[in-house]
Amino acid sequence: MGPAPDVLSYSAVMTHAPLDVLIIGGGFAGLSAALYSARGMKRGVVVTAGPSRNAPSRQAHGVFTQDGEDPVHLLQVARDQLRPYDFPVLEAGVIRVAGENGAFIATLADGQTVQARKIILATGVRDLLPDEPTGLREEWGKGVHHCAYCYGWEIRDGPTAFYQAALGGTSGVQSILYHQKISRDILVCSDRSLDFTPEQRELLETRGAHLMDAPLVRVDGREGGVRLTFQDGTVADRAVLYAHGERRGQVELAVQLGCEVTPSGIQVDAQQMTTIPGVYAAGDVTSGNQIAFAVAGGARAAMFAASALFYDDLPDGAKAEDA
Ligand SMILES: Cc1cc2nc3c(=O)[nH]c(=O)nc-3n(C[C@H](O)[C@H](O)[C@H](O)COP(=O)(O)OP(=O)(O)OC[C@H]3O[C@@H](n4cnc5c(N)ncnc54)[C@H](O)[C@@H]3O)c2cc1C
Repeated sequence: MGPAPDVLSYSAVMTHAPLDVLIIGGGFAGLSAALYSARGMKRGVVVTAGPSRNAPSRQAHGVFTQDGEDPVHLLQVARDQLRPYDFPVLEAGVIRVAGENGAFIATLADGQTVQARKIILATGVRDLLPDEPTGLREEWGKGVHHCAYCYGWEIRDGPTAFYQAALGGTSGVQSILYHQKISRDILVCSDRSLDFTPEQRELLETRGAHLMDAPLVRVDGREGGVRLTFQDGTVADRAVLYAHGERRGQVELAVQLGCEVTPSGIQVDAQQMTTIPGVYAAGDVTSGNQIAFAVAGGARAAMFAASALFYDDLPDGAKAEDA
């Protein structure tokens, strides 16, 4: 899944080497960065391979002026709107990046290289989903969601469910209460018996949560939500199942360049610059979980990269005396 690839030859892209900016990743952050780079009169390319994280969903919510649009369609519109700018999108995976500020070189999966003065990493994250319960992976982005902002208002006050492996403790209580902002009617389940104290159980039940101690074994999509099947044979229809995958940042290229990476993602400053000069990063790979943040971060990275190029190119007499 993903937007239709733009048919572009590598040689057509690389007529002017080195490019001003190489953007790696053509999701929301990368395409936003491309638009701002192009409008800043910078020569560059987006190199991207693989679907956006949002591709399994039919609708993207909370996107300014585009609430509820198909996310794949949104990315295709972004590509279409780039065309007049002559800022190409190349379908290729980047496997290696090396170099330093002003002289980076990226190697594509087919061995060809791209040289650029600045780099913007917009490689996103991957959601690693468990094999069990059966069907959770297939329903991801449809009847199974990880984010109540992305999908929640639509089924407000309806029957919801929350699943987490080894669910229990204070953090478990907090997760359930958090999801009750959508609906008090929440069915709570795990891959084993729930690990709550009698007091925690009483608190949750008083607030309207249904605690299910039989393990959840199967998730099926159905019209209007999901059907949950438990090990004891119980079946429950719910409008949504909230669950989480393991969030894995696509940070390999950042690591190759020596950028500082924390468990939340690539470290960036207020200008979206990483700890390595000339390398910028934006979108989920830096932190955050929303299209709006990714689009804003991509735009910011592009403007500050263009600004750095402007200062790099100033003639001696125009540079600040203390620079
Ligand atoms: C099921 C689901 C539903 C969601 N719903 C919403 C919603 O309703 N509203 C909302 O605001 N957010 C939603 N999100 C979050 C949203 O998907 C992300 O915030 C958004 O996609 C982040 O954009 P990004 O550009 O950082 O990453 P992505 O959109 O994931 O784009 C990154 C791109 O980089 C490519 N890439 C990675 N490594 C390389 C490489 N080495 N070489 C070339 N290309 C590479 C990837 O394949 C991908 O195409 C949802 C997420 C999920 C999982």
